[in-house]
Amino acid sequence: MSFLSQGFSADIVRALTECGYEKLTPVQQQAIPHARRGADILAHAQTGTGKTAAFSLPIIQQMVENPQSRRRSQVRALILAPTRELVDQIAHNIENYTKYVDISVAAVFGGAKMSSQERKLNAGVDVLVATPGRLIEHLELGNISFASLEFLVFDEADRMLDMGFISAIRTIMNGIAQHPQTMLFSATSSPQMNALAQDLLRKPKRIIVNAENSTADTVAHVVYPVDEDRKRELLSELIGRKNWQQVLVFVNYKETANEVVKELKLDGINAVLCHGDKAQSARRRALDEFKSGKARVMVATEVAARGLDIQGLPHVVNYDMPFLAEDYVHRIGRTGRAGQQGHAVSFVSREEELTLVQVEKLIQQRIKRVQLAGYEPASRDALLTKMQSKPAYKDRQSRTNNSDEQSSAERRLRFARAIKNKSNKTTRLKG
Ligand code: AMP
Repeated sequence: MSFLSQGFSADIVRALTECGYEKLTPVQQQAIPHARRGADILAHAQTGTGKTAAFSLPIIQQMVENPQSRRRSQVRALILAPTRELVDQIAHNIENYTKYVDISVAAVFGGAKMSSQERKLNAGVDVLVATPGRLIEHLELGNISFASLEFLVFDEADRMLDMGFISAIRTIMNGIAQHPQTMLFSATSSPQMNALAQDLLRKPKRIIVNAENSTADTVAHVVYPVDEDRKRELLSELIGRKNWQQVLVFVNYKETANEVVKELKLDGINAVLCHGDKAQSARRRALDEFKSGKARVMVATEVAARGLDIQGLPHVVNYDMPFLAEDYVHRIGRTGRAGQQGHAVSFVSREEELTLVQVEKLIQQRIKRVQLAGYEPASRDALLTKMQSKPAYKDRQSRTNNSDEQSSAERRLRFARAIKNKSNKTTRLKG
């Protein structure tokens, strides 16, 4: 199905052709016809499926058909996304799509200067892409008004909820007078997400691309059981031995990220950092170096790397298993994109075995274990047998992170406890 056959204007099709887009992806095929007609959309689609174009092209086309002069501090379309990187990426994509039409695009996120954002907002913006936190600051300062908002998009809504943006979303909604055409995109579903969708959407068209909580078919999953203190060596060993050229490594803590990068550099592997303590400009530079191939490895924390589109990424490594099984799906979403083969490699220490069990349940796949000679964990079998006989393990096996019974409040509590335990551990170690 071509973009021209969908009735997009020649100027939009020309820009899409320059982006290399010829045919609609499955999520675009499903969402675009409904969105073009003004319907609300609830879409379950993972990253890498082409969802940005799925929600933004119908908005752009409707704006082209109904041009309006920009009015001071007014916004026609608001797109909310959880992280600055994702906001930046969405805005960048939309700028490409609108290259030949008169539509203004602005991005607003924390960590960048308020004043330059303020100037853009004051002039009026057609499409505003924003993180909820910074947007509220601008709302409170009166830099922006949603009185004439026509389109509203929530991208990676599940992640916004996980990051505690629910009250920010409610505050933003209070500033919106009429019901704009609303589209909600999420990689995973949960009871809290469904409740939000019910609140925000009117008779939405439901779109599901791939089974919920699944990973792309083009990803080969592998687990290396390894002791925690051997992970750094194992990473260098695998990168060198297998000659991996572009590797995104996920860790759970900034400290780990710093240590891993230091170690890789000592081994002569060019690696860059992407975590929340780094300034926006440094993160951008790291990403550029990684994308261009100047750096072979990027070591990132979950939030910082959320939603990043790094095309054709061949290898994603979970140096630490994520706290939530759903995050495995998000992380792995960066590889195996657009039909290319990807490799998802996870280092699993004895303490992380339970998370692995949950991940396997969620993705409904048993992940292949590979032992690398010299890196076998010490007495793993004995420990597993002991763990499996514990009542807590049995109880946990009967749950999944996404089950209806398990509220997200519970999940967050578990998450908070895990962080607390880890930070206690870190403090003790430091002390
Ligand atoms: P997204 O899921 O929006 O992050 O998109 C993933 C990648 O697919 C991005 O690099 C897009 O530029 C690309 N993409 C989106 N739609 C198409 C299309 N119709 N044809 C080719 N590439 C696309």
